[in-house]
Amino acid sequence: MSLRMHESVRPVLDRLDVPTDLLVAGAWRGGHDGGRIDVRDPATGEVLASVADAGVPDAQDAVDAAAAAAAGWAATAPRARAELLLRVHTLMHERSEELALLISLENGKSLADARSEVAYAAEFFRWYGEEVVRLRGQVGLSPGGGNRLVVTHRPVGISVLITPWNFPAAMATRKIAPALAAGCTAILKPATETPLTALAVAALLQEAGLPDGVLNVLTTRRPGPVIEAVLTDPRTRMLSFTGSTEIGRRLLRTAADQVLKCGMELGGNAPFVVLADADVDAAVEGAMVAKMRNGGQACTAANRFFVQAPVHDTFVEGLVARMAAVRVGPGSDERTQCGPLINDDAVRKVDELVQDALARGARAVLGGARPEDGPGSYYPPTVLVDVPADARLLHEEIFGPVAPVVRFEREEEMLTMVNDTEYGLVSYLYTGELGRGLRLAESIDSGMVGLNRGLVSDPAAPFGGTKQSGLGREGSTEGLLEFMETQYVATSW
Ligand code: NAD
Repeated sequence: MSLRMHESVRPVLDRLDVPTDLLVAGAWRGGHDGGRIDVRDPATGEVLASVADAGVPDAQDAVDAAAAAAAGWAATAPRARAELLLRVHTLMHERSEELALLISLENGKSLADARSEVAYAAEFFRWYGEEVVRLRGQVGLSPGGGNRLVVTHRPVGISVLITPWNFPAAMATRKIAPALAAGCTAILKPATETPLTALAVAALLQEAGLPDGVLNVLTTRRPGPVIEAVLTDPRTRMLSFTGSTEIGRRLLRTAADQVLKCGMELGGNAPFVVLADADVDAAVEGAMVAKMRNGGQACTAANRFFVQAPVHDTFVEGLVARMAAVRVGPGSDERTQCGPLINDDAVRKVDELVQDALARGARAVLGGARPEDGPGSYYPPTVLVDVPADARLLHEEIFGPVAPVVRFEREEEMLTMVNDTEYGLVSYLYTGELGRGLRLAESIDSGMVGLNRGLVSDPAAPFGGTKQSGLGREGSTEGLLEFMETQYVATSW
């Protein structure tokens, strides 16, 4: 292991033994052209490790490996696949402190957020291990009575899994667990910024007994050509992508050439609505979770707050008090509640959106300016009020600890603003009347709604968006069927 880091964390990470090479056909090895990619700690800018940089020939090797393992893995009994996944679940829990520290070091998030992520990530292995042995087909009589309809599911085939940097463990396990449970072999390409956690998870899969070639991992700084080589190989059948809508659109075009099955988890622009009859303290509590998990760097992050006039000032006061008390610092410091953003580009982008809103008439009641230059990619918790409808941050993902608040009077006015976006991932709604909340949820165009809750993610629930937030669902039985094809046999007996 070639991780370079502070002496106090070294023993913990040595225990995890994080690989830094490519995983192809069960072997850890460098890329064909020998290149390496530095992985940096966003809290200090220091290099933590260097990982292998895969090129197109490595991508072809990975498809060869996934193809060689495909028939054997598809024929492995569901119970055997399940037991392997359950072993990985146990291993992730046994190493949870080390994994959390690794996530925190390469991503920057607080240890508390990293620990929650490890628990959430591990749960996908348990949930799919439990689910795959219970998958059922159907047998029915055709309406005309002449024949039987026999419906079964089988693995879709070689699957390409591409993940973002904001949840380095959970975005990977949310794909690996159902793909492997379904009987698919796979090629994982983690985000260039945060490859170490994914490599550590792959090593745990090997420790649990994963056969060679069933999961291959490519780290690369050339995702365009490397992924194109994999997606245009005629043996590949599935693309499962989590990341920005912009890259997702591009990959869908490439996937069209071979009509690949596609699961796309893309960007969001979540509204957080507080109605006048809501419990305002609970709404502030939920807002802190929906806004500040990962320092706002989540596709599910509340991006726009709509608060009904009678409770607007009370809500803003409560939110400002809580946001002002947030302790900002290096994620790996136990006292930190909000870590740095992923890099300096992210800080520039967040600040650009804040300055745009201020220039259009918004007021900053907390924060609102990037810190003077210093080590680490930090942005202060910020609350903006009187945000005008044309401010860019009401239409673009902020991906930072910034809460823009808009006051509204009538429900219809709020619904128009809520649905005025090309995204439809998640919405949050706080009301004292459950029936009203359910009625409004039906009028909101998003794949998920948090009703009096600031957190929706759950391995047992279908996670995904409408409109340009994506295609398909991850988690739940739907997430397993994403990696399967339905076959129908017409017969008479
Ligand atoms: P990104 O789109 O820049 O990158 C995502 C992945 O795609 C990374 O692994 C990256 O290396 C890879 N990639 C980049 N260019 C590529 C190319 N030309 N060909 C193939 N792969 C390429 O996104 P990001 O900045 O890593 O993550 C943040 C985004 O992810 C946000 O938009 C966020 O909303 C979204 N996200 C969505 C979900 C969801 O479940 N809907 C979850 C987490 C993050």
